[in-house]
Amino acid sequence: MHTQASKKTIGNKNKQANVAIIGAGLAGLYSAYLLAQRNISVDVYEAKTSLGGRIMGVETQASDYLLDMGPSWIFPHQSQIQTLVAELGLTLKNQFAEGDALFQQHPSVPVRQISGVAPPDMYQIVGGTYSLIDALIKAIQKQQVGDCQINLANNSKVVNCKATDNEKVGGAGWELTIEKTSSGQKTKAISEYKQVIFAAPPRIIAPIVSSFLDKTKADGHSTFDGLEQTLRKTPTWMAAQAKFACEFVSASWRKRKLSGQAFSQAGPLVEIHDAGHDASSDEAPSVHALFGFVGLPAKQRLGLSEQQIVDACQAQMIKIFDIDKSECIQFHYQDWAKDEWVATAADQAEASQHPNIDLSKWQDQLDAINLYFACSEFSPIDAGYMEGAIVASQRAIAALVTR
Ligand SMILES: Cc1cc2nc3c(=O)[nH]c(=O)nc-3n(C[C@H](O)[C@H](O)[C@H](O)COP(=O)(O)OP(=O)(O)OC[C@H]3O[C@@H](n4cnc5c(N)ncnc54)[C@H](O)[C@@H]3O)c2cc1C
Repeated sequence: MHTQASKKTIGNKNKQANVAIIGAGLAGLYSAYLLAQRNISVDVYEAKTSLGGRIMGVETQASDYLLDMGPSWIFPHQSQIQTLVAELGLTLKNQFAEGDALFQQHPSVPVRQISGVAPPDMYQIVGGTYSLIDALIKAIQKQQVGDCQINLANNSKVVNCKATDNEKVGGAGWELTIEKTSSGQKTKAISEYKQVIFAAPPRIIAPIVSSFLDKTKADGHSTFDGLEQTLRKTPTWMAAQAKFACEFVSASWRKRKLSGQAFSQAGPLVEIHDAGHDASSDEAPSVHALFGFVGLPAKQRLGLSEQQIVDACQAQMIKIFDIDKSECIQFHYQDWAKDEWVATAADQAEASQHPNIDLSKWQDQLDAINLYFACSEFSPIDAGYMEGAIVASQRAIAALVTR
């Protein structure tokens, strides 16, 4: 897995940040990038050791390509993410789809070749989606000027968020409790902020948010009745998904005029696509790969060993595409339902659903207490997608800077 250095502090270390961001996925990092553009200091806290959240890339034979185990696709109408990709100097390419698709109805029935399956237009970031995270971190570093300090802290779980009346932050603000684990030892630290941006999925942050809702009533703020339930009801897009990918010595399917696209009613993979990468130099050779979505429900997967699942995925993939097992260089498997920072028990129990959250009832009160939500699931458009993470962040920062 691609990981970042444990802590990056950029700029003047003595400057107290007034803004905290909880979560360093696309939304958290993009929010930090927007704040850095406005010369506003911010501390970003990420629970995991790696940054990027659901955007995850695994190393391949090529030094310039990480294979996506999270999101891969950007759709033509998603203009905000496309603008960011271009702004950061990255390029898009079309999902490879030249040739016929394959259809597997049953393990005992021969695989059928289907012509004329036109997949929807989908773009991928050259180098893999994780290039976006790497580029955002570099851009944040570049944007530091003067007193502005952006502190990206991984292995830093925000476990509590409490309203405070503290002069240090100019009156009403927030006290965050941050937990770190080092050599098996947990340590807690407290930091105060004027404004807090939650850049993590609604269900994941619901326990932290619920811990201060009652207290805001006692402080005389407007009530937030129903907010916690709304957060808990909102599914996290793709939280219950698992992905399998395999790198091969050659793209033998392409030579046979196959697109790499396959659909299966037999499983465990239900949908397979080409995940190849073109060589850019001798040191960065081409990568020949396929990836697929696992169709077994999360609950069923939890009852199987990882070995059982990857063996079945690999056997199915090479059978469908008629590839010899010896052609497989390495495979990767990622079960997002097992990630405590992505999926809750509710996500594991449900089929994947598009999130649709409406906070309008509480929006004025949330703004009044300097709390903002930037994760993709909070977006009014393309919620759950990377586009949603960009739109939700833009809205959160626009509201924050007007206060
Ligand atoms: C398998 C899969 C395939 C996908 N395919 C696509 C696709 O093709 N196209 C597309 O547009 N989207 C796709 N998505 C969705 C896409 O990944 C998300 O829209 C996007 O990454 C969301 O970013 P985010 O920053 O809003 O949230 P997240 O990536 O979930 O980031 C939230 C971060 O907050 C951290 N966090 C949570 N709680 C705390 C806490 N208390 N303290 C500190 N840190 C905390 C988490 O660890 C995480 O890093 C896919 C997702 C998956 C899993």
